Formats: sequence, structure tokens, C-alpha cells
Amino acid sequence: MRLLGQLEQQLHQLDRQKLLRRRRVADMPCAPHVTVDGRPMLAFCSNDYLGLAAHPRLVEALKEGAEKYGVGSGASHLISGHSRAHDLLEERFAGLMSPYIEQARALTFCTGYMANLAVLTALAAVSGRDTDLFSESLNHASLIDGARLSRANVQVYAHGDVEALEGLLKASAAKTKIVVTDSVFSMDGDLAPLPALLALCERHDAWLVIDDAHGFGVLGANGHGALEHFRLRSHNLIYMGTLGKAAGVGGAFVAAHATVIEWLVQRARPYIYTTAAPPALSHALLASLDLITGKEGAARRTHLQQLIAQLQDGLRLRHWQLFPSQTAIQPVIIGANEEALRAAALLHAQGYWVPAIRPPTVPADTARLRITLSAAHTAADVAQLAQAFNAIEREVRP
Ligand code: PMP
Repeated sequence: MRLLGQLEQQLHQLDRQKLLRRRRVADMPCAPHVTVDGRPMLAFCSNDYLGLAAHPRLVEALKEGAEKYGVGSGASHLISGHSRAHDLLEERFAGLMSPYIEQARALTFCTGYMANLAVLTALAAVSGRDTDLFSESLNHASLIDGARLSRANVQVYAHGDVEALEGLLKASAAKTKIVVTDSVFSMDGDLAPLPALLALCERHDAWLVIDDAHGFGVLGANGHGALEHFRLRSHNLIYMGTLGKAAGVGGAFVAAHATVIEWLVQRARPYIYTTAAPPALSHALLASLDLITGKEGAARRTHLQQLIAQLQDGLRLRHWQLFPSQTAIQPVIIGANEEALRAAALLHAQGYWVPAIRPPTVPADTARLRITLSAAHTAADVAQLAQAFNAIEREVRP
């Protein structure tokens, strides 16, 4: 009872600080028009950026994959769980990334979280404690956890501060140097200065690990992500893309020089010691890549860009601030936790689902409503949201 009492006390404290999180039950979380806890809502919170998660062709491909391969892989990759579907998908990713990474090879993972743990721990295992890992201050939790688990000497550099990073790299005498960054920052929507970071890494013989969870499928004319967007090419690059966001399915892949990928297969514990993802998912992902890189993907990216411009134009905020972002992540910074929760509750009462994001996910006093747009939204959806937002700001901050 004493142990349970400790937990209850902590939970009460979170509740008092307005930091207790609640899940809502959505009948179909990826759809913009969705029933939540029995009520119809218009949702602006999923990462289904291209609106592919319920695409009939992907639903069909998943069924086909289940018929062809069954529903489970049965074992980890190195035992007997590595199926033809996984292998074909890796080949596709290697081809897709070959313009940006020299001698590219790819490896798939069950989740992006695991891929990030795998890359950072395996890279740091090469030189053990003689590894310096430079981590951008707004990196995703999975990169932070990967850095901690790697037991490298971790140094955090300020958001977007290339000069500060240069100073740290110059001062480093470590055998292995790793710079790690999100490409699109998930709470702000802005982009990392990847060309400058890569130039630095090449100059200082450091790896550049890029987490493109929010860029793959969205950025670049062909949806290849941040490397295409910035036209980068190097053998120092280690690229991670997730497949549960724009790709609409689930999982992740890492693309890098073939030697790096072979090292991950041999040494990355989150790759080796887990059951391979169901092969049917890989089969569905092959269909998703056809959509992303084809005409339909291009049309969906154009529509998404139009919605982003429309939202920026339609929001007329006086106190709250729309964070400058050119991506589908459009955060409205409010400040106080309570005010953000009140705004989210008012939007919710009118049928709009926009999540309030609070510390510790974001820094103190920067609580925000994070709008995420999807190609599945219509111009009418976005117009309605902008109008509701403008009215609610006046109500909360007269
Ligand atoms: N990196 C970033 C930047 C993310 O936003 C996320 C997902 N929220 C992940 C990694 C983890 O990916 P996954 O959901 O596939 O585990």
C-alpha cells in the first residue's frame, strides 16, 4: 500500500499542475472527421500528413500481405523472422536513398523509437566511452533516450546553433563523433540547418544522424524527405525515416552506407532482440511508397502546402502566436498551461480536436495548441478551424 500511495501522491501532484494527460477514444484516429468518445469531431492532431492511413489501396495491400505471409513474423530477423517482404522493402529504401547516401543500404525497424535507440547505441559501441555525441536541444525523446543508453559523452547544443556546435566539435578529441538532430522539430515544425550541419560533420569527420520522422513523405518534390529537400549527399549521413506518419502504416527505416547498416545488423540490440514486424506491414509499405513517390503523392503534397498557406492566412491572432513553420506542424504558442487547456477545451466543445502540448514535452511557459494538417483535410475544414480559433482567442483573452 505504501508503494501505491507514493504513486497516487505523484499523480495528484501532476493533476494539480494541470499536467495529467488523458487519452481519448477515437473510432478512427487517422481520419479528420472522427467520432471521439461518441461525439463527431474534426481532428487536427494526427501525423497522417498525406492522408494515406485509410487509403483503400493500402488497406487492400495489407489484406493481400496477410494472405501471402500470415499475420506474424514468428521470430526476430536474425533467427527466422526476416521475410521476403522485409527484404523487398529494404531494397526499395536503399534505391530511394541512393541519390543522397553513397553506397546506400537500408534496414527496417518495428518503430522509429527503436530505430533511434539502435543507431545511437550501435554507433557509440564502436569506440565505447571514447565517443562524443552532440545532441540538438529540441531533439525527440527517442533520440535523448538513445543518447543516454549509448553511454557516450553527451553534449547538448542550443537549438539551430551551428556555431556552438562547431566549437564543440573543434574541442573534441574523441575517436567517434556523432551529431544527432531532428530534421523537422516535432513541437515547433521548423527545420534544422542540415546543409550547414553536414558541412561541419564532413570537416570534423563526424557522423550526422538525421531523424526525419516528420519529413519523410512530405518534404522534397518526390517525397524522399529532408535529404531531397536540401539536396544533400554524403557517406557521413545516417538517415532515419518513420513509417507511421506520412507513409500511413507503421515502423521505420534507417538508410546509410552499406558498412554502417551491416554494423547495425551485427550490433544494434533493438534490431536483434525483438520479433520482426509483421511482414504484411512491409507489403503494405511497398504500396505506400508507390503512392508517395507517384503522381498521387505529389498531388497530396501540393494540397497540403495549400492548406498550410490557407491556415497561416486565416489565423488572425492578437496575443497568441503562430510559430513560424513551413511544415504541416503549425503550433500556436499560448504560454500558460491553464490557458492552453482552456483553449483546447473550448475548441473541443465546438467539435475541434487540437491537442494542448505542455511541459515537459515543451519548455516551461510555452504551452501550445499544436495544429497538424493533413492532405485529408479540405479547404473548408481549415477555414472553419481558423474561424473558431480567432473567436476563441477573443473569448479566452478579451
Ligand atoms: N522521432 C520523432 C521526431 C518523432 O516525432 C517520433 C514519433 N512521435 C519518433 C521519432 C518515434 O517514431 P515512432 O512513432 O515510429 O516510434
